[in-house]
Amino acid sequence: MVKSKKKYNFTYTANFSSKIIKPKNIKELRQYLNKPFTIVGNMRSYGDTFIGNGNHISLSNFNNILNLDIKRRVIEIESGASLRDMNEKIFNKGLILPCMPGCKYVSIGGMIANNISGKLLTNNKIENFIHSIKLINNKNKIIECSRKKNKFFFYLSIGGKGRTGPIISAKIKLSKLNSSFIKQESLYFDSYDSFFELLIKLKKFRYGVCWVDFTKENFEGILFLGSHYNTKDKKHFFYYDLKLPSFVTYLISLIVKMKLTTIIFNYFFKTKNKLFKTNILKLNNFFFPQNKIVNWNEFFKPHGFFQFQIYLNQNNLPFIIDKIKKLMNIYQIFSNFSIIKFHDNKNINKFSLSLDFPIYNNKKKIKKFINYLVKKYDLEVELSKDIVLNKLNNSTLNKNDIFNQNNKMYFNKNFNSNIFKRLLKYD
Ligand SMILES: Cc1cc2nc3c(=O)[nH]c(=O)nc-3n(C[C@H](O)[C@H](O)[C@H](O)COP(=O)(O)OP(=O)(O)OC[C@H]3O[C@@H](n4cnc5c(N)ncnc54)[C@H](O)[C@@H]3O)c2cc1C
Repeated sequence: MVKSKKKYNFTYTANFSSKIIKPKNIKELRQYLNKPFTIVGNMRSYGDTFIGNGNHISLSNFNNILNLDIKRRVIEIESGASLRDMNEKIFNKGLILPCMPGCKYVSIGGMIANNISGKLLTNNKIENFIHSIKLINNKNKIIECSRKKNKFFFYLSIGGKGRTGPIISAKIKLSKLNSSFIKQESLYFDSYDSFFELLIKLKKFRYGVCWVDFTKENFEGILFLGSHYNTKDKKHFFYYDLKLPSFVTYLISLIVKMKLTTIIFNYFFKTKNKLFKTNILKLNNFFFPQNKIVNWNEFFKPHGFFQFQIYLNQNNLPFIIDKIKKLMNIYQIFSNFSIIKFHDNKNINKFSLSLDFPIYNNKKKIKKFINYLVKKYDLEVELSKDIVLNKLNNSTLNKNDIFNQNNKMYFNKNFNSNIFKRLLKYD
């Protein structure tokens, strides 16, 4: 295998050195599928889903928009195109994919294979917006799959982390976009009761995300709610995000892993949002605030950070969050960034909680903490973010058919990646 410079996941917690192969056409791609392979998107994952021990194949040469049906609001796009490429094309045509991750540099294939979630208050998974996908199956044939045709391939490939073979293209359902702005309201809460009271307001909004201050003993944070803001100004803004020079990211890395830094940052963040409760934001600022500094992940070099994401409901949210806080004190670890998102398709009853843990000399402790917590409370973990679990628990397995060996007739036997190796324990 040809070795080259190390490539890392976004959190700097896993890497590989082999060269990335970029087939130019389907014929070439098919040939590579006869040998052990892993599929690489734009490597923005927090976990180890795109890292394996075969050829790393990228579909970056498959990056065209094949069709844009403005009337029916459907785009057919190749999997190697980035979300940014797609947005540049569709925003100006008055269309938007309402379910987008907080990063526009991801590939379409990567978004589908990880079944990303966005800021929607309902239907907050990209699976709800995929009409059909074309992929190369385990017989090395191109097949089209949808909810009606080849449906097992369809369901297993969305969130399938590449295991059913490379997705070539997808037909994606878009929504009408009548403005280039989002009106955002910031609502402060300082207890579980005040948080649940605020949820009544959700019905008036389309998007929402909740920032939680995990350095506080009480349940405190800001609920951000947003809707498209009707204005005559339909001009869309595409500007360059900032990439900080390495000496600046190095200087920041010296303080970012200190709990005191998080306490100070949280104080100012909270104060600002308590003072400025209503904001009119450009689409990019609302959907991709983390892209303003593209290389902020370098602040966490050299050890990186772990993201731990679990799903909760109204009943167990307070109990589990209290338990997490108590255990974090015992293990002496802290989360510098904590987010709650909404995941129910009808009522507001399913939430995801994601916690970022900076790594310094505490790697073993964080791993122990996460594995203990998941096992003890049988928590459902979002595997696209995970790199720490050493065993699949029932709640997580039940939601991830791609890890169920009963479905193996749909898997490509030449495919491998670290997450499957780690959780299914094969060599
Ligand atoms: C700043 C930031 C914010 C983020 N915010 C969110 C968020 O809000 N919500 C969320 O859900 N995620 C979020 N993410 C994570 C990110 O959206 C996902 O990990 C996404 O899948 C990464 O896409 P990628 O193109 O980089 O794919 P990669 O990370 O390279 O690969 C991801 C998976 O997709 C597979 N894959 C890639 N292309 C194909 C293909 N063509 N066919 C089959 N399989 C393929 C890979 O094998 C791998 O399993 C964020 C990431 C960053 C960096």
